[in-house]
Amino acid sequence: MTTPNSCGECGMCCKLLAIEALDKPAGAWCGHFRRGCSIYADRPPACAGFHCVWLKSERLGPEWRPDRAKFVMYTERDDRRLNVIVDPAHPLAWKREPYYGFIKRMSQRVTDGYELLVCVGERRIVVFPHEDIDLGVVKPEHKVVFGYARRDGEQVPYAMVLSDLPDGEGTAPPSA
Ligand code: SF4
Ligand code: SF4
Repeated sequence: MTTPNSCGECGMCCKLLAIEALDKPAGAWCGHFRRGCSIYADRPPACAGFHCVWLKSERLGPEWRPDRAKFVMYTERDDRRLNVIVDPAHPLAWKREPYYGFIKRMSQRVTDGYELLVCVGERRIVVFPHEDIDLGVVKPEHKVVFGYARRDGEQVPYAMVLSDLPDGEGTAPPSA
């Protein structure tokens, strides 16, 4: 896949995302990262196939490169969910401008079923246009559900954590 941007020395996904094939947990630097991937030709498919939002974007400037922004954005569910994976060493990075304004604008699509989830370590924050719902620490085996519910004739945003799910049914970004 050719992309408008290139990773350079970024490597934030090599720190923030879990790589199952390497048994690498989220939030810990991959042992193969040395100002770039030292096993590039032999990196696992999960790494080779990962393209963050900035890498693919023609309109996000260099300040959005994840090692500068201090978060990695990627989509899943056919681009209907945007995950914002924040470096726990900079937990408020996503709240700075121009990032926060962009994230809030993206959240306006939530009425069409779009989902926007901010992850800071195990903490999960669901972003709606007029509200951010901080769910606190959510265990990987638990599932975050959110959307709009009708209350007193109005659409009101909600977000909650479901526990006691059957094995494998939790939603636990971040992972590549
Ligand atoms: S976070 Fe994006 S730009 Fe940075 S190394 Fe990963 S894919 Fe490349
Ligand atoms: S194998 Fe390479 S691309 Fe994959 S996480 Fe490690 S350093 Fe990054």
